[in-house]
Amino acid sequence: MQDMKIGVDRAKCAGHAQCYALDPDFFPIDDEGFSVLRDHDLEPGEDSLARQGVAACPESALFIV
Ligand code: SF4
Repeated sequence: MQDMKIGVDRAKCAGHAQCYALDPDFFPIDDEGFSVLRDHDLEPGEDSLARQGVAACPESALFIV
């Protein structure tokens, strides 16, 4: 399987914290609610959570490549 990466476009993130509400460890935010997710490769089994986060973000700031 090809490696998949998750990341966030910080310019689009508006601090809704919808991603954080799904899983605070996987989608960390700062004190003001903005995502501080670092681009990283998904571990096996994380793709479902990653897709849920992408779907939950109202600004389309999260992406999977
Ligand atoms: S849901 Fe989207 S806009 Fe909201 S904090 Fe997460 S990445 Fe940012």
